[in-house]
Amino acid sequence: MIKINIKETNLKSNSYLNERTITDMIVIHHTGERDIDASAAEIDQWHKNQGWTMIGYHFVIRKNGTIERGRPEYTIGSHAYGENWHTLGIHLSGDFEKAKPTDQQVEMCAMLIAYLCDKYNIPTDKNHIVGHCDLMSTDCPGKFLYSQLKTIIGKANWYRYQSTPDAVIKEVITIQSNSPIDENIKLKIKALLDYAEVLFVT
Ligand SMILES: [Zn+2]
Repeated sequence: MIKINIKETNLKSNSYLNERTITDMIVIHHTGERDIDASAAEIDQWHKNQGWTMIGYHFVIRKNGTIERGRPEYTIGSHAYGENWHTLGIHLSGDFEKAKPTDQQVEMCAMLIAYLCDKYNIPTDKNHIVGHCDLMSTDCPGKFLYSQLKTIIGKANWYRYQSTPDAVIKEVITIQSNSPIDENIKLKIKALLDYAEVLFVT
């Protein structure tokens, strides 16, 4: 199984959370309304202010690609009305009706999906990895993220099945030789190399 870094946030629930017994779908969300780099702790506060027991999503992916823990993974989330009992919720910080997700968010989202699909034996396809808008009438996760969902599912399949340390190094070399090295590219390369390290040691 692939490994990823999840930053623990130790957010506390205000009441008892039920355990989820079935996990066969992953739902992708965005912040919406404002294109801000919201943390899991901030979202936890917003959701508590609405009277919820705690943050509704299981994961938050910040603009720099950091994956933060939201609601405990084994519990039923509060992110997709009527579908929470069998789904995991991933939130990418930003308003993707207005802005595009960062390269690091796309990459880390694909890695997280690969990890979760592997862990729960979920097929990595468009029937099981969906946008919030596939389940109900909403803009979420925003047109600039939703339009990348196919790419993200493709990348997740690569991370799940095709990636080897050699393949990751090749990918890094391709990125380095094709692109001017800006901060985004550097971070993407770092994420890939961190991932290669995980592959080498496991
Ligand atoms: Zn949503």
